Amino acid sequence: MDDTGFNPIMAEARVNQPIVQLEDVAKTYGGAVALARVDLTVHAGEFFTLLGPSGSGKTTTLRLIAGFERPDKGKILLDGQDVATLPPFERAVNTVFQDYALFPHLTLVENVAYGLRAKKVPKPEAHAEAEKALAAVQLANFAGRKPAQLSGGQRQRVALARAMVNRPRVLLLDEPLGALDLKLRHQMQQELKRLQTETGITFIYVTHDQDEALSMSDRIAVFSQGKIEQVGTAFDLYERPASAFVADFVGNSNILGTTLLRPEKLHLVPHAHAVPEGYEKRHGIVREAVYLGAVTRTIVALEDGGTMQVMEANIVPVHGALRFVPGDSVTVAWPRSACAVIGGEYNKGEQ
Ligand code: ADP
Ligand code: MG
Repeated sequence: MDDTGFNPIMAEARVNQPIVQLEDVAKTYGGAVALARVDLTVHAGEFFTLLGPSGSGKTTTLRLIAGFERPDKGKILLDGQDVATLPPFERAVNTVFQDYALFPHLTLVENVAYGLRAKKVPKPEAHAEAEKALAAVQLANFAGRKPAQLSGGQRQRVALARAMVNRPRVLLLDEPLGALDLKLRHQMQQELKRLQTETGITFIYVTHDQDEALSMSDRIAVFSQGKIEQVGTAFDLYERPASAFVADFVGNSNILGTTLLRPEKLHLVPHAHAVPEGYEKRHGIVREAVYLGAVTRTIVALEDGGTMQVMEANIVPVHGALRFVPGDSVTVAWPRSACAVIGGEYNKGEQ
């Protein structure tokens, strides 16, 4: 145990030990397919993210793991045990929702201790545990306040402390930062990652925000229309996408046939310039150029049809900010090593 009172899982136990498994799981609501077929293995100690657009089945997957819903078919295993017959409160999982759902009339320590008190843990012990959990989310000095006296970010921390005080094996988080503004969201992302690393609790995290997924996760499952398109690390998804859907959903992409070219791997040169040995090129006319501070985004209408997006880092200050403006005749060039084949020889990850 560390001084926050949480019991970190031994590092060795984190090595590919399955903790949550979904096998051939399907779920419909009144005939509408929410999950078509999902196979998934999450390992103990992982920060695992379910990423996908709205309606792709992420929340349904979490609710099935939590036990709020029953699958139409397939198996859900926690620690290798089929949990089909276990109600939510008998599963070693806890859920953090976006809307916090704190009790307004209770102090923070009472809010966090609530679950333990419901389990008949004596008050002094429950409050001591709650205080430790509040300390872990850096709210030790706020224990006596009511939720209304907190900012949105602080309330989200209380919701986290309340879920973690039960020391779940798995914490399920459904878009927990969705209601926060961008800056606070970034701050909370770092904090969540820190808490997850420190406690060793397995996190299954739902988001539709690819930046959030890429920055926090050990592995990510990309959902589309009730199915998983790919499971992998941020690197796998970005550099070796299994499908055009993944290539397009994760980051910006130029897709030429089955070849993926990420915009930041491309270079722009004036039309007449030669390109280095080993480079591919296409000619075109600049249609749009937007200075974005760190980078400039240029859209080029290609001579042979279609468009390409180029992102160039603004490393050297250029007078007037833009190197090329709409109407300029340019060549888009890239080293052959910049090409990735969609669905090519990538590691699909363990599904
Ligand atoms: P996500 O969390 O990825 O946005 P959901 O898992 O909430 O997606 O939903 C997947 C699909 O199932 C959607 O088409 C949604 O409308 C449908 N769905 C989810 N919950 C219900 C429900 N309780 N009743 C009917 N349809 C539902
Ligand atoms: Mg959802």
